[in-house]
Amino acid sequence: MLKLERYKRNMEYEGISLESQQKLLKAKVLVMGAGGLGSGVIMNLAALGVGQIKVIDDGIIEESNFNRQLIHKYKNLGRAKVISAKDWISEYNPDIKVEMDKIKLNEFNYFNIIQGYDIIIDCFDNYEQKYLLNEIAIRHNKILIHGGAQGFWGQVTTIVPKKTGCLSCVMQKPKTFNKETFATFSTVVNTISALQAHEAFKIITGNGEILLNKLLVFDGLKSSFKTLTFSKNAACETCSKEF
Ligand SMILES: [Zn+2]
Repeated sequence: MLKLERYKRNMEYEGISLESQQKLLKAKVLVMGAGGLGSGVIMNLAALGVGQIKVIDDGIIEESNFNRQLIHKYKNLGRAKVISAKDWISEYNPDIKVEMDKIKLNEFNYFNIIQGYDIIIDCFDNYEQKYLLNEIAIRHNKILIHGGAQGFWGQVTTIVPKKTGCLSCVMQKPKTFNKETFATFSTVVNTISALQAHEAFKIITGNGEILLNKLLVFDGLKSSFKTLTFSKNAACETCSKEF
């Protein structure tokens, strides 16, 4: 028996249908990273009622995380982020099934991580992992919701293998990755993470238009958005084989 009282404000005037809410409750979403973007994505997925959430992160909670990573509590300093994330979800919405793994994604371990999940949200904080995840998603035909935040800027797009361009089509994969750490503000990172969760919401329920071949760019200095269009690059090393 579904407990729908919790979601009734999703379904009131101008909201979604009962059928859409049931789709959310049956959906499974894989969240790659439980840091700044991951925190916001997890909070929003749990509030929407996404029935199963899997969280992947190999990190532990550090003092410098608290300027933006809203699900992690100070008492959990030094604990694994995935355990903190699981606890947060279970305390907020005990009906959600949570899976988690304290592991760093690589070429050899990804198969078990992605198995059973068709929607992946990229909440990694570095482009080396983002490009690896992009390649895995293309190879295994998974929808990938990309998000990134640096300083006052952020961006979101949804990558659908065989249908849209991929991360490498938007920004060519660099030969080497810069290890420089950029500033990340709670307000910017949580704007982007909310938009990533919103993409998942639309994909699952079939409401609205998805950011396909569109990069939504947030300028936090002006508080404005721009939508840039892109297309598949026929010479893309990652997805051109999928044409
Ligand atoms: Zn591509």
